Amino acid sequence: MPEQPMIEISRVTRSYGTFKALDETSLRINEGEFFSLLGPSGCGKTTLLRMIAGFDNPTSGTISVGGQPMVGVPANQRPTNMVFQSYAIFPHLNVEQNVAYGLKRLRLDPAEEKRRVEEALQQVSLTGLGKRGATELSGGQRQRVALARALVMRPKVLLLDEPLSALDKKLREQMQVELRRLQRAVGITFILVTHDQYEALAMSDRIAVMFGGRIAQVASPKEIYQRPVNCQVADFLGGMNFLKAGIAEESERSMTLDTPLFGRVKLDKPSAFVRNGNTATLGIRPERLRVLWEGESGKYEVAGKVVDRHYFGEITHLVVEIPGLEKPLAVSETNDFGADDLPIGAPIRLAYDPDALVALAD
Ligand code: ATP
Repeated sequence: MPEQPMIEISRVTRSYGTFKALDETSLRINEGEFFSLLGPSGCGKTTLLRMIAGFDNPTSGTISVGGQPMVGVPANQRPTNMVFQSYAIFPHLNVEQNVAYGLKRLRLDPAEEKRRVEEALQQVSLTGLGKRGATELSGGQRQRVALARALVMRPKVLLLDEPLSALDKKLREQMQVELRRLQRAVGITFILVTHDQYEALAMSDRIAVMFGGRIAQVASPKEIYQRPVNCQVADFLGGMNFLKAGIAEESERSMTLDTPLFGRVKLDKPSAFVRNGNTATLGIRPERLRVLWEGESGKYEVAGKVVDRHYFGEITHLVVEIPGLEKPLAVSETNDFGADDLPIGAPIRLAYDPDALVALAD
């Protein structure tokens, strides 16, 4: 029998009039997982998180947490706690009082309360700042207080609604590492809502990619990035070259595609592949195309011409026109060998690995 998931979402729909913010969504999230809900603005990820927290209810469908159906259970009686984007900490209370706030209703022994507050402050690296006023904190510190305030309640599931989006890039990246470390240390289930694909890739055990109230794919970061099920997921996760391909053969697990550029290739068929006539799309990420320098040759190569170049420090993005191909290819190359100096108009050869090609549903 499969292990009981920590969260079980079964055919949940949330309608506003005739509009469905979530449409028959089903999902299982395991105990101890760092799970992300990723998607563009308006796809329904916050709606789903709020329903797990108990701030909103499904129009139909069910949600269970830790094996318990959550219908009719108010937010403050659920084994979940939420950290908001806005932090929602009280400005008139100091750090300690903010963290202790939710504990008050448990009427703990004062020494026990103090111990739990200190433990939570230590978990988020705020030891010694307990007496500091909430208004005397940096954005990063406020974020940690919000985390400590949720953790002190010892929830089974911590829900994080875009918790890092108000921080600048450098601090955000630092907090991503810390949040992941924290999740490993406390070992509880974290569910993160984000529209930032790099954040989801860097932090998660698994990711659900959502569009228009539906889940398009649930998989590990590597699988989502390398084996997206369709063009929409592929595009949302980063740069991808898309090439129209003819379907030569199709079986349950694989398909053979004909493309002008790569010839005939046999590929794994994505699980959600929905055939639409006799064509499919072939995808290859820009970093999976490699520049061949003079004297080098590749087992599989294509020739073209550099038509544009964008410098990004450690890498350069090249735009390469290929004879007979409607759209130029995007290529991402490290600058170790001088990709940043390639002149516009220069002839160029690119190597590719057939394993880097993916078949995508249109
Ligand atoms: P964002 O990143 O912008 O918060 P999201 O993916 O979290 O986006 P949701 O907040 O879940 O999106 O909203 C999903 C859809 O439901 C949106 O189109 C939104 O306008 C709509 N929606 C949310 N709350 C309500 C409401 N109270 N009444 C009507 N429509 C709503």
